[in-house]
Amino acid sequence: MKLGTKVIHYAQESESGTGAVVAPIFQTSTFEQIAPGENRGFDYTRTSNPTRSRLEEVLAGLEGVKHCAVYASGIAAENAILQAYLQPGDRIIIPPDVYGGTHRLLYRSWQDKGVEVVAVDYSSPGKLQDALTAAEAKLVWIESPTNPRLLVYDIEAIAKQAHDAGALVVVDNTFSTPIFQQPFTLGADIVIHSVTKYLAGHSDVIQGAVLAQDAAIFEPIKFLQNASGAVPSPFDCWLTLRGLKTLELRLARHAENAQRLAEAASSHPAVARVYYPGLPSHPGHEVAKKQSTGFGGVLSLELNASAEEVRQFVSSRKYFKLAESLGGVKSLICHPAKMTHAAIPAEKRAELGLADTLVRLAPGIETPEDLVADLLEGLNALSAAGRGAADSQSVERERPALVAAGV
Ligand SMILES: *Cc1c(COP(=O)(O)O)cnc(C)c1O
Repeated sequence: MKLGTKVIHYAQESESGTGAVVAPIFQTSTFEQIAPGENRGFDYTRTSNPTRSRLEEVLAGLEGVKHCAVYASGIAAENAILQAYLQPGDRIIIPPDVYGGTHRLLYRSWQDKGVEVVAVDYSSPGKLQDALTAAEAKLVWIESPTNPRLLVYDIEAIAKQAHDAGALVVVDNTFSTPIFQQPFTLGADIVIHSVTKYLAGHSDVIQGAVLAQDAAIFEPIKFLQNASGAVPSPFDCWLTLRGLKTLELRLARHAENAQRLAEAASSHPAVARVYYPGLPSHPGHEVAKKQSTGFGGVLSLELNASAEEVRQFVSSRKYFKLAESLGGVKSLICHPAKMTHAAIPAEKRAELGLADTLVRLAPGIETPEDLVADLLEGLNALSAAGRGAADSQSVERERPALVAAGV
């Protein structure tokens, strides 16, 4: 079964009692028992639920492994992995531009409990080797492509180095989904998803998933799903099952839109730089081609614009709604320095090469011509304002009252 068929048919037989072609929602918290301790496979929904089990089976099938546990959010899924594998004194290696919420969870919670968090630039293999040689690491955490600069890391090469040093490899596959990238075939031991994004796909669910092939690796994570209880509702699991059926179709359009927007922006004078792995000029293009079957649906642009112009640009698009998150059918735009990455101090953002004039686009599945026209209209307005020269330091640095979620 190919992936486009799997999203419809895998683990999704018609319901035996009625012939319903769509799985019912078991919106129940508990299950009547036949005799004390004797049940029909389910006893309490925190522990397991037929709708949730169905979703877990489908997601496992898409990533090509045996085991999956879903959680109430991507961050809850990450936390289960950390709780299962890290003790005080243990070390985890991450890329410097790891997802903002992962950054916060590690540095503001796990580091305080005595876990050592080491950020290493994976684009230079020597640096990872140094970190692995310096001290034993329990986990090596990979994201590819990253957010918001869409850096691409060689998963297979990193996994080999990590395994040689005895570490487990975790891949956050949120941006690529199993449609474009299959991390287990590249050496991952554990895959995590923010299901919230492309998998659910309609900006109406918050959910996460952890997947593994090895039963022993999965066991402590599965235990924590019930023991710490951050489980999604049956209704949300059902919504995700519905969203998943169009995953392959949606991803094809997301990627087509991203590619066309990246190409349209590349030659525009109001754009200083385009980040999209689908452009041959992107430093990760060749690695992305080697390890993925698509370049994903997110791109970022560094604008030649003042602070006020950036604000105008992101606030006045017709189809790109100003919001955090990505992966939904409706296009979103975000200003990382003020929104998703505002929690990272300005100096650190500069270190990461995260310009204050960077905007991130997460095209939905609208008709490409409409999105390109909307982008060009905004860019033309910037050029018309006569601001040719890059002034990337001009965005004010005041911190927002609320620390952004890091989505
Ligand atoms: C959104 C996101 C997360 C966190 O997922 P939530 O569902 O928002 O908790 C983790 N990793 C990546 C790459 C994400 O984009």
